[in-house]
Amino acid sequence: MLSPYAALAQKTSPVAPNRAQAEAIVKEAYAKFVSDTSGKNADYIPFLAQVDSKMFGVAIVTVDNQVLSMGEIKYAFSIQSISKVYTLAMAMNELGADRVFDRIGSEPTGRAFNSPVAVVDMPTHTANPLVNAGAIATTSLIAGSSADDKWNKILDFYGEAAGEKLSLIDEVYQSEAATNAGNKALSMLLAKYERIYSDPFTAVDIYTKQCSVGVNVVQLARMGATLANNGVNPTTGKQVVKAENVPYILSTMMMAGLYDGSGGWAWKVGLPAKSGVGGGIVAVVPGKGAIAVFSPRLDDAGNSVKAQRVIEYVAQKLDFNLFSPRSVGLKQ
Ligand code: GLN
Repeated sequence: MLSPYAALAQKTSPVAPNRAQAEAIVKEAYAKFVSDTSGKNADYIPFLAQVDSKMFGVAIVTVDNQVLSMGEIKYAFSIQSISKVYTLAMAMNELGADRVFDRIGSEPTGRAFNSPVAVVDMPTHTANPLVNAGAIATTSLIAGSSADDKWNKILDFYGEAAGEKLSLIDEVYQSEAATNAGNKALSMLLAKYERIYSDPFTAVDIYTKQCSVGVNVVQLARMGATLANNGVNPTTGKQVVKAENVPYILSTMMMAGLYDGSGGWAWKVGLPAKSGVGGGIVAVVPGKGAIAVFSPRLDDAGNSVKAQRVIEYVAQKLDFNLFSPRSVGLKQ
């Protein structure tokens, strides 16, 4: 049976592609890019260098809870930077959009995701919640009686967005915790500018844990579909993200979701998206659903090459670009 939200989504877009169309295009994209070996695994986190770079999975989850998936759909990869979107959503649930905007901001940096130069240069220092500095500051906003309490709240919240309980991949956490001097340095810079809101190293530790959460590609697509569906998880029907915050989150993803690759992405694809150095990317089609792709090989900006190509292909064929007059959201 269709949920009331699905009925609403269909009303908003009577022309969203049907399942058969979407399935055919995803199959085409899969076949076209399956043997593409461009890019390379992240290696600054030692664990990620050893992940099998041939793994490749694609999933679409729609606001009416249809699931379409292909390839490696069981493997739980580390969510990495995609976590930043959901900690942002959680901070906004707790504090409201205005307070989060005041404390973090939403300006693209045009620099690498872990750039200390951006922290020094940007008037807000935090820049936006989707680069490391802004994300660590966003994590520091989450309320809780102890570090463990904050971390457990974050993990539970991600699980609600994914529609299933998620867990920490301890090997990823250990590997990253042993090599995160750069993130600790960012947190101390933020402290210098009074732009971090808890003990800096505690915030970095919780941030490192949130990046080490495991998700499979279907769970990731469902996390995206939750944003597409006004913050309601299409599988559980639960309001996870406050609806009024969704447009702020998506616009931030549009500007900064692929770091210094965000401009090119907006140009070519026109969808809010977020990447992680674990090889995942999720793109949101507001009111329709989300597409997630997992493939570990990254470009120089730290974005999965294959995931970008697959999403670009599917988005073009299915007229998803939000800025196109042909966009499925605008057709009569
Ligand atoms: N945990 C990673 C880091 O802090 C996340 C970066 C990413 O996915 N771009 O460097």
